[in-house]
Amino acid sequence: MTRVVLVGPPGAGKGTQATALSRELGVPHISTGDLFRAHIANSTELGQDVKRYLDEGKLVPDEVTNEMVRTRLEEADARGGFLLDGFPRNVGQAEVLGKLLSTAETKLDAVVEFKIDEDVVVERLLARGRDDDNESVIRHRQEVYRTETAPLLDYYADLLITVDAVGGVDDITARVLAALRDRS
Ligand code: ADP
Repeated sequence: MTRVVLVGPPGAGKGTQATALSRELGVPHISTGDLFRAHIANSTELGQDVKRYLDEGKLVPDEVTNEMVRTRLEEADARGGFLLDGFPRNVGQAEVLGKLLSTAETKLDAVVEFKIDEDVVVERLLARGRDDDNESVIRHRQEVYRTETAPLLDYYADLLITVDAVGGVDDITARVLAALRDRS
């Protein structure tokens, strides 16, 4: 179970879980949000191009995102597996990921859905206070999740593992690891 995609609404705790799971599973945590924010912090050309999408809670155009992920997955540490956090975020990106993996003669092992009520997470995100964590941008990101990202749950029905994302950080990590173990 080394090639895993994490899906869940903004604030579901994917990033926190990915850090712990990456340690447990020994594969890199690849977060498209983190990659974009690093580009923005370093004022790269890509960072300058994508900043307005992040500020508004909109998806960065697929060409930019797909290319950034393709490059990242080609790095040596991702050859043996990865935890993808925040990618794919729509069916088009999922199709591109499928092609990238089949070209590399591999495939996904599991898609983990973090299930949590939207209203529970708004408070949590407001407390986190990242640049794009103000209420209207959060609400917009949630809408994007419902319309663009949630269809992935059907797309990946065969690989899907749904985990209750309400609870303590360590408990949730244990739930994910147990569910992955059951599958393999
Ligand atoms: P959250 O899970 O709280 O929404 P992320 O760090 O995953 O936070 O994403 C922050 C922002 O980065 C998104 O609102 C979007 O602008 C951009 N982004 C991240 N991943 C993708 C992606 N796969 N496709 C397009 N845009 C993305």
